Amino acid sequence: MDYLIVGAGAAGVSAAKEILKNKNDDDQISIFTDEAYPFYYRPRLIECLSGEVEVEDIIIHDQKWFRDRGISLHLEEKIVEIDSSNKVIKSEKASYKYDKLLLANGSHPFVPPFSGVELDNIFTLKNAEDLKNINQAAKKAKTAVVVGGGLLGLEIAYNLAKAGLKTTVLEVAPYLLPMQLDKKAGKLLKQKIENENLDVICSAKTVGFAGLNKVNKLILENDQLSCDIALISTGIRSNISLAEDSDLEINRGIKVDKQMQSCEKDIFAAGDIAEHNDKIYGIWPPSIQQGQVAGAVMSGQETSFEGYIPTHKLKVAGINVVSIGELNKEGDYQSEVLLDDDSYVKVIKDGDSKIGAIIVGHYEAENELLAEIKR
Ligand SMILES: Cc1cc2nc3c(=O)[nH]c(=O)nc-3n(C[C@H](O)[C@H](O)[C@H](O)COP(=O)(O)OP(=O)(O)OC[C@H]3O[C@@H](n4cnc5c(N)ncnc54)[C@H](O)[C@@H]3O)c2cc1C
Repeated sequence: MDYLIVGAGAAGVSAAKEILKNKNDDDQISIFTDEAYPFYYRPRLIECLSGEVEVEDIIIHDQKWFRDRGISLHLEEKIVEIDSSNKVIKSEKASYKYDKLLLANGSHPFVPPFSGVELDNIFTLKNAEDLKNINQAAKKAKTAVVVGGGLLGLEIAYNLAKAGLKTTVLEVAPYLLPMQLDKKAGKLLKQKIENENLDVICSAKTVGFAGLNKVNKLILENDQLSCDIALISTGIRSNISLAEDSDLEINRGIKVDKQMQSCEKDIFAAGDIAEHNDKIYGIWPPSIQQGQVAGAVMSGQETSFEGYIPTHKLKVAGINVVSIGELNKEGDYQSEVLLDDDSYVKVIKDGDSKIGAIIVGHYEAENELLAEIKR
């Protein structure tokens, strides 16, 4: 049996580990990645911005790990076509036949149509190569702007500030972390962050960038900010272009059932590329879980992915931020505010059961509350 996996990230490698448990001696696992690095802990790329950690420090499995397990790892080999009628995938170098195929080729940063976005020193952060380019430019920079005050944007800004850059975060919504917090929590977080070393501007509509070759200005609807480098962190999109000419069912991601199986029975998808029950999680833990399910099912086991309750736990400038479960954005449930001053704690309830919570700052009973919601 030939198992082919596109993507050597969280989903791809966790699938390979499951297949290893069940495979026969003459089965072969091959993994393809367009990156030069083997499997690394992508979320920790952000820490590499502060200069405290190198990419080499965040590698989870090196090439030897794959070799020792008989997995054929193809670095810097981009897959460009899926031919499902002949059960073949193609790269620019060769064609490969599969019995079972897993698409675990992740996502890319979404960049809104800003003017001047092609100028030098404007970046997104997705992979180790982006990181090296950012760090090289940051060495010569004094000021940075980060467009997007979401989870990733705040972490990026915090680490750029740690690297010594005067950093400003711009969020188009009226408050920070609009996907994870409510207005009150977002505003409290902004206050707390501003007491540390970061500037934050909310309701900031970025129009574009200006400069000669390199960016030197970020243009807002009603203002301008000087900057030597700019980071754009405005969401992700699944890498569906690889599958666009195939017969797979695609919406925002590749549609899969709870076995992570696509509409083609021998093609599976997991991680940021997969859309399960209309959801693309875009985070690490469900990517691992989906990869495990895909790998197990591909290699003959019976299991399923039953969904995931997102927990976002973040520390920005030492400030504790938690957002878990249902956040009641539509106002469908009751909510109760437990703390409302230097710390903010809101619990969302469906009848007697706690189904979501938002915390900004310290909350003594945090672990107990989170355990109740996860049940
Ligand atoms: C900077 C950063 C910080 C993050 N922080 C957090 C965090 O704190 N917590 C959290 O839960 N999540 C975080 N995430 C999200 C998390 O990393 C992703 O959800 C997770 O890595 C998705 O795993 P995946 O295996 O689906 O895809 P990926 O990890 O994106 O791996 C897919 C791989 O496939 C490769 N690929 C794509 N197309 C092809 C092709 N055609 N041929 C060959 N290879 C291809 C890609 O280059 C990539 O190496 C962060 C992401 C980033 C970028």
